[in-house]
This record gives sequence, structure tokens and C-alpha cells, in this order.
Amino acid sequence: MTILANYIDGKLIAPLNDRYLPNVNPATGQVYSQIPDSASPDILQAIAAAKKAFPIWAKTTPAYRCEILLKIADLIEKNHEKLALAESIDTGKPLHLALQMDIPRAAANFRFFATALLHQQDKSFQTNAQVLNYTYRVPLGVVACISPWNLPLYLFTWKIAPALAAGNCVIGKPSELAPMTAFLLSQLCIEAQLPAGVLNIVHGIGAKTGAFLVGHHDIKAVSFTGGTATGAEIARIAAPSFKKLSLELGGKNPTIIFADAPYEQALETTLQSAFTNQGQICLCGSRIFVQKTIYEQFKHDFVKRTQHLKIGNPLDPQTQIGAVISEKHKQKIESYIALAEKEGGVILTGGKKVIMLGENANGFFVAPTIIEGLSPQCSINQEEIFGPVVTLQPFDTWQEVVEQANNTPYGLAANIWTTNLNTAHQVAHALDAGVIWVNTWLMRDLRTPFGGMKASGVGREGGFYALDFFSEEKNICLKIENS
Ligand code: NAD
Repeated sequence: MTILANYIDGKLIAPLNDRYLPNVNPATGQVYSQIPDSASPDILQAIAAAKKAFPIWAKTTPAYRCEILLKIADLIEKNHEKLALAESIDTGKPLHLALQMDIPRAAANFRFFATALLHQQDKSFQTNAQVLNYTYRVPLGVVACISPWNLPLYLFTWKIAPALAAGNCVIGKPSELAPMTAFLLSQLCIEAQLPAGVLNIVHGIGAKTGAFLVGHHDIKAVSFTGGTATGAEIARIAAPSFKKLSLELGGKNPTIIFADAPYEQALETTLQSAFTNQGQICLCGSRIFVQKTIYEQFKHDFVKRTQHLKIGNPLDPQTQIGAVISEKHKQKIESYIALAEKEGGVILTGGKKVIMLGENANGFFVAPTIIEGLSPQCSINQEEIFGPVVTLQPFDTWQEVVEQANNTPYGLAANIWTTNLNTAHQVAHALDAGVIWVNTWLMRDLRTPFGGMKASGVGREGGFYALDFFSEEKNICLKIENS
């Protein structure tokens, strides 16, 4: 059984209390590795190592940091298959998804921020002939990067790469439910000769290890991706010491399909946006609004295609739907399906227990589930389920659908399907969402701002937004005396 270690001061070390947590393979229900159950002494050790490394790392040239980060990107690519397999076993996601999405995007994160930092520009403001203002950016110091289990390496590196690029030293806290690729990343950082203490990865439980990290006075910023309730708790802990905060939180995203949508594309992509990674992507569309004139046709076709999705062993290349992350999460999803029936919803497909055989008999599988007949106000249409469960709702006009789409506490992402440019613009402008796709989904450009509105988060990640977050901009006002 693999025993994971913390990565502190350039070395892989056991937690000081020598305590471990079981790590379960969601597709089998079996414990297959042990994770450090780190406590405050481990965090203190990591912070001390990061503080020691910071003055030197902060003064390295962008070219030097770029070279090291590119080495890490190269090593992620070299270990592509090993990392993808580890990600699939750790999370239950189909192996082909980890191969095609998670790991390439993790390498791209390092590659992008390694080179982005070479293109950062400072500003100058000429006030008058004697006075010049100019700005420059300094790293913050030691920062915390805390990530969730759904896209483990992808989202962990999305934070770590810009933090390191900007010249900070980092304490990373991956999710205790999917820590394996973060552990493998620490091995790759050693191989890349990242200087000791620049990146430290401490494993453990969020409410203990994570909370202590967030509250520590030497942590200058917290970049967090996870649930909205955890984000609120982190904001509460961090507020008294005025830490910079980037919070990427939950969502309840609308997919809006107009009658003039490119039908086949809308149908196929909506299948992806509903059920990719078992619906456990913060950008998945869980409320599908379809214009009345095509509602029945769309419902028929969507249900039929959903029933053809292959649920199975994540390691089987044919599998489209793997396991959800944990027994507890499976129960949460099932309880929402039961609640939907109580609230008057009609289950069009799914909702039943999935019977798996052999080594997957005790895995955490949930069938893709489509529900109709629920009001926009009911819990299923208001609360984040974060599983393969979607609702279908008919609408008449764009004004009506915008009102319904905006009617949740969340505002992360939205998906619009139409061939009418006016409709696309009107609806996109009226929606409360930070990330809006028209006639596509999950299209990525690392330069664009990423983040949510309302209860979906605070701040923007990506491109220079992330490099700006991980630095302080200083203004120098220079007066030249006339001689
Ligand atoms: P979570 O909030 O339970 O945990 C996220 C991370 O925070 C984990 O590493 C956890 O150990 C840590 N943590 C938990 N409590 C903490 C505390 N008190 N102090 C410090 N750290 C703490 O979330 P999850 O279940 O891992 O992930 C699912 C959630 O993440 C969903 O709500 C999903 O929408 C959201 N998510 C959002 C985005 C986005 O970009 N907006 C992306 C992916 C996932």
C-alpha cells in the first residue's frame, strides 16, 4: 500500500505525529493508500521552510523561474500516463478523461504561467515635466493554495504555477479525498530541482490542517477552490489579518437552449456539460432550460442519449461515467434524487441503484439522472448537488429564462445555445455569471478571467489576473528638481 508523504523543505517526510488517513479508491470502495494526517507542527515546519526560501526565490529573475517551471511542465508531460492513471484511481473518473483533460491541462498551467511572467509589464504615469510615477510588482511572501478533489492536479497547479511564477513561496494543501497526484507532483518538483522550501505540500483534513494554515499570520494570501460554505469559513478566518483572498466556489449553472440552436451540437455538448466527470465539475450545467417549441423533441433525444452513456470501471476505455468521489457524496446525491421525487419531480432516467459486478461491486456509482416538473424555487434547482443529476425546464421568452437562470444564490458559469447573435448578446449580458459560453462548453483560453459572481466566489484567476493576485503593485512617485 502506498504511503504518501508531505513535501517540506525539498524533502518527502512523514507527518510529525506519524498519523495517517485511509485513502479510498471510489471505483472499488477499497482503501488503497495512506495519507498524512498532518497537524499544526507540520504546517509550522512548512511555513518555516517557505519563509527561509522566500528572500532568495523572490529575487530570482523571471527567466530563471520560467526555466524551472517549464521543467516541471516537461516532467508532467513525460509522466502523463502515470499521472492520469493515478488521478483515475484516486477520484473514480474515467481514465480517458484524465488522459485527455486533467493531466494535459495541469502541464499547460505550468507552461502558461512560466512564460506569462516574461510578458508582464509595469506602468508609468507622467504627471508633468518634473513628476513621473512608475509601478512595479513584488511577490507577497508565503501563500496558501487549497484545492478540491474533483480536478485534483488540474486545479492544484492552476494555483501553484502563478503563485511560484510571481515569486512567492507556497504551502499547498490538496484535498484529502484525492491527494495522490499532488504527492506525485512533489516527486517531480524534486526531480526538476525546484529549490528547497519554495513549494511545500502538506496533506491532511481541511477543517484541521487547512484551517490552521489559513489562520497563520505568516500566510499573506489564500487561493482557495472548493465549496461555498468552506469559502465563507476561510474568509472568516482570514479576515482579521487582511490576507488577500481568491475564492472559487460552488455553482448551479444554467444551460439555455433556444429553438434556433445548432441542434445536434447543443444536444451532444449538453450531454457533456451535464455528465462529464459524473457531473462533478464546477462548470457543469445542472439546470437545463429548453425553449418550449423544441422541449419535447430535446427531452426525447437527451434522455435517449443519456441512457446510452456507459457506466463502468473508470479504467475501461469505453467507460463514460465512472464513480463519484466517496460513499458520503453518493449518499448526498441519492438523497437529492429522493427529495426531487418528494418535491413532485418526474425522473425521466436514472435515479435507480447501479448494480456493478466484480471488483466494482462496492464502488460509488450513480446513474446519470434527468428530472423534470420541478419549480425553479425547489431545493433541487437551488442547491448545488455536484453529481450526475440535472433538471429540464421549459421556457418561452429570453426575459423569462434569464430571470429563472439568475434565480439562485450562485453565479459561476452559464451556457447559451442559439444562432441569433442578438439573443446571444442580450442573454449573456443579462446573466449573473462570471464565465459564459455561447455554442460551446469548457473551451479554455488561459489568458481569460475565470471566476464567479454572488456565492460562486470572489476574484478572478487566470492569465495576468492570477499573477496580479499573487503580487502587490507599488507606485513610486519621482520628482526631478529643475537645476
Ligand atoms: P471543500 O470545500 O470541502 O474542500 C476544498 C478544499 O478545502 C479541500 O482541500 C479541503 O481539505 C479544504 N478545506 C475544507 N475545510 C477547510 C477549512 N475550514 N479551512 C481550510 N481548508 C479547508 O470542497 P470539495 O468538496 O473538495 O470540492 C467540491 C466543491 O468545490 C464544489 O462546491 C464545487 O463547486 C467547488 N469547485 C469550484 C470550482 C470553481 O472554480 N469555482 C472548481 C472546482 C470545484
